[in-house]
Amino acid sequence: MSGRKLTRQQQRRIDRIQAERNRRAASQEAREQQKLESGEFGPEQRGRVIAHFGKSLDVESERGSVHRCHLRANLESLVSGDNVSWREGDDGSGVVVARLPRSSTLERPTFQGVLKPVAANLDRIMIVFAVEPAPHANLIDRYLVAAEETGIQPALVLNKIDLLSDRGSSTLALLERYQGLGYEVIEASISAAGGLDALRDSLKGHIAVFVGQSGVGKSSLIQALLPNEALRVGELSSDTRKGTHTTTTARLYHFPDGGDLIDSPGIREFGLGHLDETAIADGFVEFRPYLGYCRFRNCRHVNEPGCALLEAVDSEDISAERFASFRRIVADPER
Ligand code: GDP
Ligand code: ZN
Repeated sequence: MSGRKLTRQQQRRIDRIQAERNRRAASQEAREQQKLESGEFGPEQRGRVIAHFGKSLDVESERGSVHRCHLRANLESLVSGDNVSWREGDDGSGVVVARLPRSSTLERPTFQGVLKPVAANLDRIMIVFAVEPAPHANLIDRYLVAAEETGIQPALVLNKIDLLSDRGSSTLALLERYQGLGYEVIEASISAAGGLDALRDSLKGHIAVFVGQSGVGKSSLIQALLPNEALRVGELSSDTRKGTHTTTTARLYHFPDGGDLIDSPGIREFGLGHLDETAIADGFVEFRPYLGYCRFRNCRHVNEPGCALLEAVDSEDISAERFASFRRIVADPER
């Protein structure tokens, strides 16, 4: 992708477009600065970024109104979920003057492989699985490791519970093991009466993101939990005057029963490529009490004498399956 050569003509065109963008941004800023100084903007108030379109943002005020805002050039980039201090202009648009501290940051790699923040202040990662296709333990572990690395609390959602023929199924037994490790496990179904009650409850009071393999029902769940959203998205896009503002970045939604969601197609995907062996071990929560207690400081936990992890596996304080799963993730060159 990045190796593609541009013709001189293409390069000149790109330079011209960039120069034009810079010029427009500079005049926009100058206008804003002037307005700020002349007192055309109201006092600073708190708000939250709910969408991001290039240089502009939608900021939701504390009273729930949404304002198209510009960013002061000296601010680092903002993402959905960011709490900000902003000032409202006469026409309802506004300017963001400061970003407030983040409690968490969710990052995703760009096409160039550089990690970039995509959402802020999330406090739940809902890892969605389904009765069909049945989840493998190693896949669950991969999602958990990636979630643990972010510092955001993961929860496991077992969707399509209506397809479960028997409570003795191996999938339920598998998920019980994760409950045993302290993870919340929520059963859900868009097809059964009351099938979303537990999920709705669990989302209350949190800012969540849904992740998981394709086909497990993430879109279906989100649609069912946000019945009015198609309408709201339509309203917002018709209100963007130039019509060219499309959001490819994440957007924040409110669940009617409480709680928020940050979502975009890209945010639902997960990779482990950026994690080294130490981070992967740390992503297995029950390994943590043993990490740092191996005889050798650079222990790879393979067959070293005095390995605290191997001893914990021997004494069954760590399950052999989870340990094998750890080794598998570490050994996977494609991770
Ligand atoms: P995504 O790729 O994770 O977004 O999954 P989709 O939402 O596209 O769903 C994949 C398929 O699973 C679709 O055919 C859905 O109709 C189906 N599906 C989603 N949720 C449920 C459920 O609770 N029960 C059943 N039986 N099917 C479901
Ligand atoms: Zn070790």
